[in-house]
Amino acid sequence: MAYRTHTCGELRSENIGQEIILSGWAQKIRNLGGMTFIDIRDRYGISQLFFDEETNADLRSKASKIGREFVLQASGVVRERSNKNPNLDTGDIEIVVNEITVLNKSEVPPFTIEDETDGGEEIRMNYRYLDLRRNPVRDGIILRHKMAKSIRNYLDKSGFIEIETPVLIKSTPEGARDFIVPSRLNAGQFYALPQSPQVFKQLLMVAGYDKYFQVVKCFRDEDFRADRQPEFTQIDCEMAFVEQEDILQTFEGLAKHLFRDVKGVDFKDAFPRMTYKEAMESYGSDKPDLRFCMKINDISEVVKGKDFKIFDEAEYIGGICVEGKASHSRKKIDALTKFVQRPQIGSKGMVYVKCNEDGTFKSSVDKFYSQEDLKLWAETLGAKAGDLLLVLSGTKKQTLFALGELRLEMGNQLELRDKNKFAPLWVVDFPLLEWDEKTNRFHAMHHPFTAPKPEHLELLDTDPVSVNANAYDFVINGSEIGGGSIRIFDKDLQAKMFKTLGFTEEEANAQFGFLMDAFKYGAPPHGGCAFGFDRWVAIFNGSDSIRDVIAFPKNNAGRDVMIDSPAPVSNDQLKDLSLGIVKE
Ligand code: ASP
Repeated sequence: MAYRTHTCGELRSENIGQEIILSGWAQKIRNLGGMTFIDIRDRYGISQLFFDEETNADLRSKASKIGREFVLQASGVVRERSNKNPNLDTGDIEIVVNEITVLNKSEVPPFTIEDETDGGEEIRMNYRYLDLRRNPVRDGIILRHKMAKSIRNYLDKSGFIEIETPVLIKSTPEGARDFIVPSRLNAGQFYALPQSPQVFKQLLMVAGYDKYFQVVKCFRDEDFRADRQPEFTQIDCEMAFVEQEDILQTFEGLAKHLFRDVKGVDFKDAFPRMTYKEAMESYGSDKPDLRFCMKINDISEVVKGKDFKIFDEAEYIGGICVEGKASHSRKKIDALTKFVQRPQIGSKGMVYVKCNEDGTFKSSVDKFYSQEDLKLWAETLGAKAGDLLLVLSGTKKQTLFALGELRLEMGNQLELRDKNKFAPLWVVDFPLLEWDEKTNRFHAMHHPFTAPKPEHLELLDTDPVSVNANAYDFVINGSEIGGGSIRIFDKDLQAKMFKTLGFTEEEANAQFGFLMDAFKYGAPPHGGCAFGFDRWVAIFNGSDSIRDVIAFPKNNAGRDVMIDSPAPVSNDQLKDLSLGIVKE
C-alpha cells in the first residue's frame, strides 16, 4: 500500500466519496463523546480524520490513544463536514477513517507546534526540527526557496551562468575577520573561508565568463551584533564590459522581477537614486528608510549667534519636523531625550520646539530665542502649526547619525514603517576611502578592488578623502540589501590602491599577486554586486530577524545550540593538525 494518495492540504469537496490515504503528523486529538477527531498535518496543510465508536469501536479506541506528533497513516473515505471550517483549505471535508497505522510514536514535544507557540526562542532553537514544523517558520523557508528560484530564472534568462567558487581559499579583505581552517597536509598553514567570492568572480571576468552569478555562502567572523550570522548567503553577481549604469539597470530589473513574481508588487517607475552625501545629510544614514519622509535639515545658520552657547559652539545643528505632534507630553519628550543620550547614540541633549495651533511657539530654549526666532526655525524645517521640532547639535558626523536614529525611532513610534510597504532605492557615489582613526590609515569604504571615478583619479594623490567611487548600494526599507562597484582592472592602478591602503609592495604581492598577475593577461572592464539573500527574504517575509528565514540559524552569540557548535576537538585531532591550545 502506498504511504499516501494525497497530501494533507489537498482534499476538497470534489474529492467527496473517494477512498484516500494520508500520511502525516498528529497535530491535535480531540475525544468528544463517542467520537475522536485527529488533525493530521504535513507541510501542505491539515486534514481532519474522523473516528466513531458506533461504526468501529476498536479503531476509535486505537485513535484515542494517539498522541501529539505521532506519525500516522490513515486510509478512509472523504465526506462533507457538517461543521465546516472556513479558515482551513480542507475545511469543507473530513475523512471517515477505516484504517489507522502508527508509523512512529513521538514524545510529548517540548513546545506546542502551533502558529503561536508557548516555546521561547532558546528552546525552539534547541529543537529547530520541531520549530520548522510550525506554519510561520515553514512559510519563511518556502518563500526563501521561491525567491532563490525566481532569481535564478531571471538571471538565467538574462544570460548569466552560475559558477561555483571554492570555499577553502586565502583571505579576501571585505572588512571583517576571516574564519580560518587549519590544513592537516600542510602543517602550520591555514585556509580562510571566503568573506565573499570577490576575487574569484573578478578572475572569471578575466577568463571571459562575462555574466556570472552564484547563490553562495559567505563567512565573516564579526563581533556579535544584532541580526548578523557568521555564515550567510549572497546572490553574488559580476559582469564584464559594463558601466555602472548597465549594472544598476540589470539588477533593478532583477529586483522588480522579484517584487512582481513573489510579492505581486509592480514598480512601474525607476527606483529613486540618491547620492551617499544626500543620504547622510537628509537621513543620517547610508541606508535611508524612505517609507516615510521626516527629512533632516541643517539649521546651523538660523540658530547661531543668540548667545546659546551649546549651539554657538557646535559644528552642526540639525533637526527633524514631526508632523502633528506638538501635543506630545513632557514625559514623551523626556523619553526621546533619554533615547538620544544612550551611549550608542551619544548626543548630550535635545532641544524641542512645539509649533502650537494658535501660531505661538513653546520650546526648551525660550530663554534664548524669541517667538520670531522660533518661527524662522519652523520655516527652515518646513513645519506648520501643530508640528513638533526636535533639534540636536554637536559634531556633524555624530549629530547626523543621532538625528537619523531619532528619525527612525519616531517612525517606529508613529507606525510609519509599515512592513507591507516597500521603498527600494539606490545609493550611489560612495567615497572610495574612509579614514580610520584607530589604525591611522585609510580603509576602502567598499573593498580594495573598487575603482575610483575616472574624473577623480588625480585626486587620489592630492586629496584622497574626496575621491568618490563608482560604488552603489541597494536599499529597501532602511536595510542594505546589496552593494557593489565598478572594479579596477588595471594592474598599476590596483597596485596604487593597495599602496594608498597602507600595504607594502611585498604585502600586496604576497596577498594579491595572483590578481595583479591576472590583470597582465587582458582583464576586461568589469563590475558587479552582491545581495544579502537572507535579509531580502526576511523583508519579503515581514520578519525582523534573518534567523526566521534560515533553516538552521546560529544564535546572537554565533552558536548553534542544537548541535552545540562551536565545540572543542580531541587532542588527537589537534595533533593531526600540528596545533595546540594556548591556555591564558
Ligand atoms: N563582494 C562584495 C560584498 O560582499 C560585493 C561586490 O562588490 O560585488 O559586499
